[in-house]
Amino acid sequence: MSAAIGAPARALLRDHEISTAEWTRIQFGGDEWFGDACGCSDDRCIGYHHQANEACGCLPALLSNYYRDQAALADGRRVWTAHLRAIETGAPEDREAADRKASLWIEHYYRAAITWSLTETVEGRQGITVTNLFNDRTWLVWDEAAA
Ligand SMILES: [Zn+2]
Ligand SMILES: [Zn+2]
Repeated sequence: MSAAIGAPARALLRDHEISTAEWTRIQFGGDEWFGDACGCSDDRCIGYHHQANEACGCLPALLSNYYRDQAALADGRRVWTAHLRAIETGAPEDREAADRKASLWIEHYYRAAITWSLTETVEGRQGITVTNLFNDRTWLVWDEAAA
């Protein structure tokens, strides 16, 4: 059972200029809230992650993840623009600049990556791909079409 987002969570979201409707969309991709009253996306947060009389630690963490994702999306667009320019001009210095941007982006947002690529596709989708230490797959971590 999920509860409507309660007043303390609404106040914190308001401080971040995020409406409860937006927060619901960010967490669940729709207009139905499946999380707990404290604003956590887990419907069993109160009494599990923290007591009812304690502030929720999940909501601030979810908010900072959200901002990080937003920054990764926007910065990824800059990497991709440089990549497209390098393809267009064919100039080695443009390729170097694009690869340097990609490398910094990876270092900042995907520390677990062991390799990265701007030219590999995953299920026909283009963007920034990585392989990591944990499994044998190539992951599309920035999607050219979705960003
Ligand atoms: Zn929680
Ligand atoms: Zn909570």
